[in-house]
Amino acid sequence: MPGVEPCPLCNRPASYVETQRPHRGKRFECVNCTHFFIDEVAEQVILNMVESTRSEARAKASKQAQASGPDRLYVMRAPKQNELGGDGHGVARSTMMSEWIPR
Ligand SMILES: [Zn+2]
Repeated sequence: MPGVEPCPLCNRPASYVETQRPHRGKRFECVNCTHFFIDEVAEQVILNMVESTRSEARAKASKQAQASGPDRLYVMRAPKQNELGGDGHGVARSTMMSEWIPR
């Protein structure tokens, strides 16, 4: 279902579509941040950061999304099992991965 909500990176109203690609999550279109993908885990990670860390992390992510250009999609997502350090327990909720993928 498409919708409009505050951009998770800059709070401006942004439109999104729920998608299964590249993962289950939302693809946002934001006037400020251009376009990016974020899954539920990454959204929670950002929400749960302490304020000082969050402002910095969001500003950085917004810049990276803006650097995507037309051919790439900036993706913020939960780490995959093989990307987690240690035994993986307790790590997934406090961290996220970001990468660019071809659009
Ligand atoms: Zn934005």
